[in-house]
Amino acid sequence: CGIVGILGTHEVAPTLVEALRRLEYRGYDSAGIATLNDGRLDRRRAVGKLVNLSDLLVHEPLAGKAGIGHTRWATHGAPNLSNTHPHRSGPVAVVHNGIIENYRDLRAELAEKGLNHETDTDTETVALLTHYHLEQGMPPVDAARATLARLEGAYALLFLFDGEPDLMIAARKGSPLAIGHGDGEMYVGSDAIALASLTDRITYLDEGDVAVVTRDSLWITDADGKTVERDVKTIRIGN
Ligand code: GLU
Repeated sequence: CGIVGILGTHEVAPTLVEALRRLEYRGYDSAGIATLNDGRLDRRRAVGKLVNLSDLLVHEPLAGKAGIGHTRWATHGAPNLSNTHPHRSGPVAVVHNGIIENYRDLRAELAEKGLNHETDTDTETVALLTHYHLEQGMPPVDAARATLARLEGAYALLFLFDGEPDLMIAARKGSPLAIGHGDGEMYVGSDAIALASLTDRITYLDEGDVAVVTRDSLWITDADGKTVERDVKTIRIGN
């Protein structure tokens, strides 16, 4: 339901939770974050209100200067811990808004390759398929693109990769995404409101766009795979 991502210069866990709080009004049933801690993916998730996630983080802190977060409104699979985003398979973590319509076909295909699903979500297949592409030797950007090419349905997706602390990949098809520009930091949000305390410089992705985000660059390709320039808008959102 709500997506946030930060490539930061400081510890990102508290900021991710704060950004998710700004999306609370949309409703959700569970929440989670994943960060790259010393380059390694780690995650914390909790069913119910965001306060459950922030309480968990007090007892089990999550270090890292790059991270993604999600508030889930379950469409496929009960709102339990195993189905809570971020979803992970091997070296990739993803958060997702929307529905992957062909997840059953993808799941069956991946099971034949030995990548079995562990959750009831449609989203997990995105992580599994990307894991498969990485195993085939594709670099992260190619692996994510190869995955996106297979997906049917509506989505906003954000990917984070093990060992890649300066990379997030965001994709928009049927569900909005905004990129926020900071000073040496970059942000992603399903709604610019999520980023209001971080930056007022926003690039909205168009339908079909894929964004490769690093701390000092933003490379956007459109639905045809062509590199495109999208405006950076200065927006005004009250706190
Ligand atoms: N379809 C996904 C799920 O049920 C994403 C739901 C959402 O948009 O929060 O996990």
